[in-house]
Amino acid sequence: HSKAAGRNAVQFFDPSMQAAVVQRATLQRELRHGLRDGELLLFGQPIVDVRAQVCGHEALLRWRHPVRGMVPPAEFIPVAEQTGLILPIGQWVLREACRVLARWAADPARAGWTLAVNLSARQLRQPDFVDSVRQALHAAGADPRRLKLELTESLLLHDVEDTIAKMEAPTGLGIQFALDDFGTGYSSLSYLKRLPLTQLKIDRSFVRDLLTDPNDAAIARTILQLAQSLEMEVVAEGVETAGQYEVLRAMGCRLFQGYHFGRPAPLEPAASSPEPAPPA
Ligand code: C2E
Ligand code: MG
Ligand code: MG
Ligand code: MG
Repeated sequence: HSKAAGRNAVQFFDPSMQAAVVQRATLQRELRHGLRDGELLLFGQPIVDVRAQVCGHEALLRWRHPVRGMVPPAEFIPVAEQTGLILPIGQWVLREACRVLARWAADPARAGWTLAVNLSARQLRQPDFVDSVRQALHAAGADPRRLKLELTESLLLHDVEDTIAKMEAPTGLGIQFALDDFGTGYSSLSYLKRLPLTQLKIDRSFVRDLLTDPNDAAIARTILQLAQSLEMEVVAEGVETAGQYEVLRAMGCRLFQGYHFGRPAPLEPAASSPEPAPPA
């Protein structure tokens, strides 16, 4: 047995690594075809105010794979980011989101709603980023003031001056920027002040145990105070219970998102039911 192990030590790949490489290549090819063949779709999850009234949605990408069924973004966005496929996918998401906004604008019950779109840092780094946003809005006839763009702290790992410059032009159009998953990344407070952000989203990892973990409660309260000083809105993510909602409201939080208010569901008016609850 030890002899065999010695021989194996000179292999470049072990079989499991090779399988992972093949699997990734397959995923990449299928995703490219999926984008081409219309297998991507946008779900939306409501964002509500202090009276639990819907004031907007976050657009969440789904991939309806012909064999594997509905694939969540965690399973394909990382590959899309590594391969650059996130650029045409992100462009599709932006155009689709703008079409949704234009439809909402024609409906008095929804005309005031905002739609938040997740951007990957790589999209923002594209030289034609601002143009592509402008084109998507123009093509759909959507109001830029209803579009929110969600960024993550990972974009602060790259050229911050360039990031600020890329954010300023859309801000001029009335587009607002939110910092997603706040508290989990690399934010430095000095950058936070310099970026033209209007919103912080408290990551759901701090909301989950809010009622039982004093540290999480302290973090949530601190983020709310920080945002108030910087004159930013806060959305609490991952609110699953009335108790979490009440505590966050008492802390001064004004905007909420989570299963307690609504699960992600197709944004297309024709389409059907929300995502099933995961097994308990
Ligand atoms: P995110 O932007 O932080 O989106 C919120 C995620 O939390 C969504 O997962 C949503 O379904 C989930 N969520 C909402 N409320 C609750 C709750 O009460 N409890 C729990 N446990 N989860 C909740 P989803 O849709 O699987 O998306 C995962 C991530 O994928 C997103 O996190 C975002 O980073 C990324 N993503 C989604 N759509 C896009 C897109 O169009 N472009 C890019 N670049 N990334 C996207
Ligand atoms: Mg988000
Ligand atoms: Mg988030
Ligand atoms: Mg998240």
